[in-house]
Amino acid sequence: MHVALRMDDTLRRAALLYPDVESVIEGERRWTYREFQEEVHQLAHAMTRLGVEKGDRVAVLSPNTTAMLQLFYACFQLGAVVVPLNTRLLPHDYLYIIEHAEAKLFFADDELIHLVESIVQSLTTVSRFVSMPVNGVASEREGWDSYSNLLANESTEPCITEIEETDLATILYTSGTTGKPKGVMHSHRTLYFNMQNTMFHLRATDSDVLLHTLPIFHVNGWGTPFSFTAVGAKHVMLRKIDPLLIHSLIKNEGVTVACMAPTVLNLLINEPRFHEEKTTAPVRIVIAGSAPPTAFVRAVEQQLGWEFLQVYGMTECAPLITVSPIKHHLMNETEETRFRMKAKAGIPMHNVEIRVVDDEENEVPKDGKSIGEVVARGNMVMEGYWKQPEATAAAIVNGWYHTGDMATIDVEGYIDIVDRKKDIIISGGENISSIEVEGLLYEHPGILEAAVISVPHEKWGEVPHAIVVPRPGTALDQVELENFCRGKMAAFKCPKGFTIVRELPKTASGKIRKVELRQPFWEEKGKLVN
Ligand code: ATP
Ligand code: MG
Repeated sequence: MHVALRMDDTLRRAALLYPDVESVIEGERRWTYREFQEEVHQLAHAMTRLGVEKGDRVAVLSPNTTAMLQLFYACFQLGAVVVPLNTRLLPHDYLYIIEHAEAKLFFADDELIHLVESIVQSLTTVSRFVSMPVNGVASEREGWDSYSNLLANESTEPCITEIEETDLATILYTSGTTGKPKGVMHSHRTLYFNMQNTMFHLRATDSDVLLHTLPIFHVNGWGTPFSFTAVGAKHVMLRKIDPLLIHSLIKNEGVTVACMAPTVLNLLINEPRFHEEKTTAPVRIVIAGSAPPTAFVRAVEQQLGWEFLQVYGMTECAPLITVSPIKHHLMNETEETRFRMKAKAGIPMHNVEIRVVDDEENEVPKDGKSIGEVVARGNMVMEGYWKQPEATAAAIVNGWYHTGDMATIDVEGYIDIVDRKKDIIISGGENISSIEVEGLLYEHPGILEAAVISVPHEKWGEVPHAIVVPRPGTALDQVELENFCRGKMAAFKCPKGFTIVRELPKTASGKIRKVELRQPFWEEKGKLVN
């Protein structure tokens, strides 16, 4: 008989094998696997009492907390669909997403309720609001049920509904870097697939301690919450990014694995405590969501002393599709080659098929030079965009998900992301990767952040232009920057102009909004900037 893959099986197994082992730490509070699972059963019973059935959507607005992880598991058990909300959106975004998803229940962390106070009255599908505890401590709020009261009298016996593995588990709205957010539908099967790949590539074991620095509300933060539960590892929750707190948690809890966004790693590299007092824990790191320059990989490995792994993925693929080479592959390489290789997106994960294709869908030569769009196929590809069949049909063509990312592929199958299709600069017939030019700019010690965009040009059609943020206390000089670039890259790739700014516009998930940066340059030309 066919047994459906289901995400909650990861917890069921851990609670059986590791009942008395610590599962989650949040502030002063600690849960064993038995306690964690029992509360999940209570929550599942409570949600059933509130009328949640298989297929119903449950929205949640929360930083990384025990209750947030429990909500995922309770929904998995019931076949309900989690709709996680980014904590950095604006009220009208929350209204749009919750209404679009037609959520039946809305859970919000007590400290974040103020973000949605102005829109709760306008929500037409939500029947109950639940406030979630902060560091395990609940508070009372008018109009909101408290999480602890909700669980209080419920049974700790299993509460599990039968499901198919293709039933939806989550609808996660995309970052909206290139347009309005779309609701990406993932099933138990697609998430299970990513969970297994994460477990394998991070070599997860029951002696691991995972620090949650990536938000679980975002696809980048997935995989690890479930794979490290499956093996009975310890989760350390983190509400806010604070370098000193991260340092002490790594030391005191013995953190072995951390997945961090490049911006967070940057903070740690610049935090003196990490240099004065080396953390002894063998932290291993995964980063996603950006193409890190070689200089960055070098800083992480040399200054922090942690093994660096790059992964590449997107919301639509749950998210991971490639991983950079592990230590073993690079054993005989020089340090510089190692860093360069890790700055590439890498090779496909297990059972993920990847092609790099031209506009006619033909594969480009595997020569590490020819550029095409990355398309991917496998069990990790989303079930589609919620209520947007046309967008789904445009993204998944003949079973291949079209990523919108341009890359090269070499003879061994290593993918190197060149740029987003929409960000590539075409100058006098030459393709220029904004990511490549940014990587070279990052070698300049005075540059904290850089974004390279296309601007119109009489002769070449488009030319690269750099917008840079200096490091605090550094004055950047245009002429000096020009000279710096001239020595580092081909003339046509050198930015033809520089704008020095104090900060760059970013999306809620911290990505630079190049559409916005391009706008003022293209407005007069009437060219579509998106
Ligand atoms: P939207 O689809 O709403 O415009 P988004 O694409 O930024 O937003 P995500 O799914 O969070 O939303 O991001 C995935 C994208 O991030 C990828 O398509 C790719 O462009 C970029 N990305 C992810 N990992 C890497 C990486 N390792 N190197 C380069 N780019 C990456
Ligand atoms: Mg995208």
